Amino acid sequence: MSATESIHIDGVWRTAASGASREVLDPADAKALGRVAEGDATDADAAVAAARRAFDSGPWRHTPVAERAALLRRVAELLQRDREEIALTESRDTGKTLEEGRVDVDDVTNAFRYFADLVVNESGGRVVDAGDATVHSTVVYEAVGVCALITPWNYPLLQASWKVAPALAAGNTFVIKPSEVTPLSTVHLVRLLAEAGLPAGVANLVTGGGATVGARLSEHPGVDLVSFTGGLASGTKVMQAAAPTVKKVALELGGKNPNVVFADACATDEGFDTAVDQALNAAFIHSGQVCSAGSRLIVEESVRDRFVAELARRAELIRLGRGTEDGVECGPLVSAQQLAKIEAYVESARQEGAVVRCGGRRPAPSDVRPATGYFYAPTVLDYCHGEMRVVREETFGPILTVETFKTEDDAVALANDTEYGLAGAVWTADPGRARRVAGRMRHGTVWINDYHPYVPQAEWGGFGKSGIGRELGPSGLAEYREPKHVYQNLDPRPVRWFAG
Ligand code: NAD
Repeated sequence: MSATESIHIDGVWRTAASGASREVLDPADAKALGRVAEGDATDADAAVAAARRAFDSGPWRHTPVAERAALLRRVAELLQRDREEIALTESRDTGKTLEEGRVDVDDVTNAFRYFADLVVNESGGRVVDAGDATVHSTVVYEAVGVCALITPWNYPLLQASWKVAPALAAGNTFVIKPSEVTPLSTVHLVRLLAEAGLPAGVANLVTGGGATVGARLSEHPGVDLVSFTGGLASGTKVMQAAAPTVKKVALELGGKNPNVVFADACATDEGFDTAVDQALNAAFIHSGQVCSAGSRLIVEESVRDRFVAELARRAELIRLGRGTEDGVECGPLVSAQQLAKIEAYVESARQEGAVVRCGGRRPAPSDVRPATGYFYAPTVLDYCHGEMRVVREETFGPILTVETFKTEDDAVALANDTEYGLAGAVWTADPGRARRVAGRMRHGTVWINDYHPYVPQAEWGGFGKSGIGRELGPSGLAEYREPKHVYQNLDPRPVRWFAG
């Protein structure tokens, strides 16, 4: 298979129908990393047709659940076999550190194993008491059909696995479209699905742009469900494109996530150190290009000066560089566009009165290697407030804004003052306060005295404009299944509604 044969339809690797291809850049040096096929609507149509045939003819959806689960477990083993290679691909493509790439592969593996177990445990359907001994009523779960899976660039393989694993577990067929910015690990995953023995046509892949391939998949009458992870603007378009055909829509969108720190969490040196350390982790891991990044620090006023000073001191020490190099803690931003966006957000914040405590600029060429990469220094912006663009909009970069509060009510109000509602955290030494505040936060995930961990057993997704539906957990499988009620009358007789 050549690099530009990255489209997989009906079990065959091919180039784009138009012959077009796209260069994939390494964000650490802005040089070419690879090349993939640039599919368009024609390729999307061919992939949907293949997925439709594979679904309607039934080899996969009628495969016994135990065999489907066994295939998912084989994929998990293959992922672990190729762990280093995939981690390297993900690190080079996205800019994240190699260690983060390895963690991603392990998380992806766990997602396949989790859905393999879940679908076996939840395959039985449910007998319903219809209140009549002559009726046998059951609810069974069937595959939705052909799924379009559209994924973003920040966690390419992880976001793909949260869709691919449950879609396959439930017996669906699919067409996946990875981000055009970071498509390489998804190509690897689809190769592993084929190697694991998935029948041709069940898993199809079209590399290409959002406005072309993504838009076509979203509107396509042959698609039964579109599951999208990405930004709010694209998610809105997906929903609009899907509306005329009333397909099912699942959206995992952005976040503007609060990290609320009460003074009592900082009362001891150890508590203070932990809260600062985790605030850095919340905001700057993967250079802040994380949907759940804790990009809004909401800190109690009495500890603000000490907290922000220490935060800025340590943020300045974060070692930037190529993600594959030893000792590097943060890689570059993913693209020149993303870098320009971050520069514009910091500039707007300055004009709106924010005080730059650290960063606020690209690192000097002598401070980072390679100098041509899309690097931006971790930035702490103090004296922010809810009217600022940088506080309201998802920046998706290494920018941490600081707001302060005096009372618990103020803290909750600030935490909820966003159109999003993906994730957030509360730091406090008071267990009662922790539960009260967590209970009032309108976010899909709330961490108490922690930031970022998730487990595949628990649902992931957002309130508000952070999306529709949930991935992971039992709900993450339910997205890909249609409940069907089968009502059997064991003793049929006339009902005599009509006299004649
Ligand atoms: P994006 O919206 O630009 O692109 C996401 C995907 O959608 C890409 O594959 C893109 O090609 C495609 N796309 C773009 N326009 C489209 C259209 N009109 N129709 C169909 N598809 C289209 O997002 P991105 O920049 O790749 O990713 C960053 C965003 O993803 C952030 O907002 C982040 O918060 C979000 N995200 C959310 C989660 C979550 O779990 N909620 C996880 C990761 C990323």
